[in-house]
Amino acid sequence: HPAAPSAGDDAPASAALLARARAVTPGGVNSPVRAFRSVGGTPRFMARGSGPLLTDADGREYVDLVGSWGPMILGHAHPAVLEAVHDAASRGTSFGTPSENEVALAEEIVRRVPPVDQVRLVSSGTEATMSAIRLARGFTGRSLVVKFAGHYHGHVDSLLVAAGSGVATLALPDSAGVPSEMAAETLVLPYNDVAALEQAFAERGEQVACVITEAAAGNMGAVPPAPGFTEALRRVTAEHGALLVSDEVMTGFRCSRAGWWGYEDVDVRPDLLTFGKVMGGGFPAAAFGGRADVMALLAPDGPVYQAGTLSGNPVATAAGLATLQHCDEAVYARLAEVAGTLGGAVSEALSSAGVAHRVQSASSMFSVFFREGEVRDYDDARDQDTAAFARFFHAMLDAGVYLPPSAYECWFVSAAHDDAAVERILAALPAAAAAAA
Ligand code: PLP
Repeated sequence: HPAAPSAGDDAPASAALLARARAVTPGGVNSPVRAFRSVGGTPRFMARGSGPLLTDADGREYVDLVGSWGPMILGHAHPAVLEAVHDAASRGTSFGTPSENEVALAEEIVRRVPPVDQVRLVSSGTEATMSAIRLARGFTGRSLVVKFAGHYHGHVDSLLVAAGSGVATLALPDSAGVPSEMAAETLVLPYNDVAALEQAFAERGEQVACVITEAAAGNMGAVPPAPGFTEALRRVTAEHGALLVSDEVMTGFRCSRAGWWGYEDVDVRPDLLTFGKVMGGGFPAAAFGGRADVMALLAPDGPVYQAGTLSGNPVATAAGLATLQHCDEAVYARLAEVAGTLGGAVSEALSSAGVAHRVQSASSMFSVFFREGEVRDYDDARDQDTAAFARFFHAMLDAGVYLPPSAYECWFVSAAHDDAAVERILAALPAAAAAAA
């Protein structure tokens, strides 16, 4: 049941747009977590974004901590990205042929992420993980896929089992519409549990095509791999001839110039990696890539088919390339600084108000669990006071801070979050913490 919206939930233009939208679109939204179902109230229809700010249809301004769920690492309407987009679009918006921007973006990804020898561009993170799994199955000749409870890899049929993100927000056990035969090809294990991993592989290891894991989980809140877990994934998969697919759709080019790979201090090379969000600079561009001998199996040279009308779109790749070219060490330093300041301040405010909480981070991605104690897996993440989160969320919204409308999502900062934006967030915290208490 949605929590009651706060008294300040007054957004007439958004409410009118929602009514129009509901008549023609299920729930009035094109992605479920946008609907505010777990926090209640009226989803804000945004009209403009600039730097760290969003402006809604009623003309109210918010400091944005969603960043379009990850892509907007440079903030909204970054001048260099806009210029690249205008320039590309003025020369044509889609050719259905190869074009130079695709090559340049692929080169940039390969340069940044050493385990990636070759990369194929697609249009969404869902396509990236779906294609990586098909490729892993084609390469190994096996069908079983191992995933972890609470990890979200997009709405791929076989990965919508015990998934995080919106599936967790809506408290769906799994998705209807996924055939049981397909779900049976997915083995769900508890995250950060090496013993469970070893046992599963001892029993069914020779059937496993791949393990897919969020490089650092972000879709049940921020839950980084426990010390030794990433190494165990590499060791166990290699021992059994299965591939390791590291899903960096959220973490890629955000946690470091490469991603979680290159941030976590371990010597592990996944066989395949998936990317999205930041690499599209706010446009639909995503990718999967990895070992040359595995990627060689893709059509046209190999037997694993994969394609896309808009794959490598010239405008999307221009936006992604401009974004990555601006993501230098200064950007990552600023993200870390802002995330550290905000995480510390949220914790302080909640402590002062006597609210049980736990702030966790994976590099500059962080989230606030409304519970005490470390969160290591999905059971921990679900064991929190989501009603307290909803009250906190609405108080922040009333004060002009836009948080992810779910207790299971990371907060995303951008390089455009300047001191003024940070100050506005800090100023909103005491009252929001009191509301949560
Ligand atoms: N993988 C991860 C780790 C994600 O966080 C997401 C989206 O949130 C996806 C895959 C799916 O990406 P998309 O929404 O672009 O299909």
